Amino acid sequence: MAKYIFVTGGVVSSLGKGIISASIGKLLQARGYKITIQKFDPYINIDPGTLNPYEHGECYVTVDGMETDLDLGHYERFTGIQTTRANSMTTGRIYKSVIDKERRGDYLGKTIQVVPHITDEIKNNVKLLGETGQYDFVITEIGGTIGDIESAPFLEAIRQLKWELGRDAVSVHLTYVPYLRAAGELKTKPTQHSVKEMLSYGIQPDVLVLRTEKHLDDHMRMKVAGFCNVDLECVIQSEDLPSIYEVPVNMQRQGLDSAILRKMGIPVGETPKLGPWHNFLNLRGAATQEVRIGLVGKYDLQDAYKSISESLSHAATYNHRKVNITFINSEFLTRENLEEKLSRQDGLVICPGFGQRGTEGKILAVEYARRHDVPCLGICLGMQMMVIEFARNVLGYQDANSSEMDSTTPHNVIDMMADQKAISNLGGTMRLGAYECQLAPDSHIASIYGSNLVSERHRHRYEFNSSYLEEFEAKGMKCVGRNPETGLVEIVELPHLRWFIGTQFHPEYQSTVLHPHPLFMSFIKAAIQES
Ligand code: GLN
Repeated sequence: MAKYIFVTGGVVSSLGKGIISASIGKLLQARGYKITIQKFDPYINIDPGTLNPYEHGECYVTVDGMETDLDLGHYERFTGIQTTRANSMTTGRIYKSVIDKERRGDYLGKTIQVVPHITDEIKNNVKLLGETGQYDFVITEIGGTIGDIESAPFLEAIRQLKWELGRDAVSVHLTYVPYLRAAGELKTKPTQHSVKEMLSYGIQPDVLVLRTEKHLDDHMRMKVAGFCNVDLECVIQSEDLPSIYEVPVNMQRQGLDSAILRKMGIPVGETPKLGPWHNFLNLRGAATQEVRIGLVGKYDLQDAYKSISESLSHAATYNHRKVNITFINSEFLTRENLEEKLSRQDGLVICPGFGQRGTEGKILAVEYARRHDVPCLGICLGMQMMVIEFARNVLGYQDANSSEMDSTTPHNVIDMMADQKAISNLGGTMRLGAYECQLAPDSHIASIYGSNLVSERHRHRYEFNSSYLEEFEAKGMKCVGRNPETGLVEIVELPHLRWFIGTQFHPEYQSTVLHPHPLFMSFIKAAIQES
């Protein structure tokens, strides 16, 4: 039977619950356990698919096509597991399922209430993966901060599960210990209040992880343990570290995994070695030279392109370089400032996106990369911008565009997919998740993958308009990746340039710490030759 670990956060948001959850997963995996990690978000949206990245950062897509929270990306990158729609849940989906059941008449005339119907639905979903028999541990991260009104049903569900499961469920609570510079002191009071809040829901945290900028001495840890009814060995600190990838090692050093196991009455045994992970960290530490990558996008926000920047960072590490990523806001790119903004970069990534804003700047950046032979990777909308730039400047169609940006253009080289035209609801209706892609045997991309058939994840409504295919190929832009069933163009490249590839899919969703993605590896290699 699976055992359950609940990760909650208190005091403030953005403490890195996702990283702690992923680290717990990683450490238990290293002990030979089979794990999975799921995220329960207390907002009403069915999924984050319709959320603006400014609201919620990147939308991460699972193999089976669920649009999810970016924390699922951390889970996959840290542990190498593949998440699915069962690993992501929101209040919206919980309510929708309960309301659908009520309409079907499943509740046989009962009054439907938050307790027990919503809480039961949460509990059933928490246990869904655990009951498959595939996992020893199910780690459940609860989004939001303790004390938020919307978290209450989730906490009640955890309370009940803890009561039902006894030692087979533990609660890990993440809090913040601020340092008051004027007083020169670290303050544990907010942590005490946060634990009090947990207690008011009937949950005694078993393990506390304290986020802090400064080291907490044993005296402080003892104080927290005493005030919060937690064993001293279960008071772990998570100091600011140069990289998120050092967190699992730091957690292991302090025995976060063994504290959890002991709480569950499981023999702890020897601390496993994290060999390949340490190798990755050593490579990171040893790299002195930089590779400079310009991220051409419209969302001026660190989290909006999370998986892309992590993929670049993995690939740079294995290429013995530090990656220096500069965000270049395409909305403000003009022909006049193009040289100034782009010339210092060793490689350019043209980012995914939706809507008109910033697209003309992306097209200018593509033109710059093509004319100056700067290694360039176009992802999804980025690939579409490569196609449009080529149509305008090489094929000579000045008005070429995507029908997403200009519905009346006579040269819609990017057009809405046929099966998308009948869709009116925007939520969860794109072409989502993994599809196969057949690679042209003699292409650059096939040599990069070392294979002729790959599977990558998608999130789009528009596609390369294949009525233009022959024209593009005749002028040198090759469509070297196609869906084997539908023929949809997945990859374009300019083989006469050093590295110029656009993909309709998102390779960034599949790069992990121990398995950097071949496309990013090759892109970074090419960028290094440029530097
Ligand atoms: N807006 C484009 C489409 O829907 C690209 C989407 C993306 O970049 N993820 O096809």
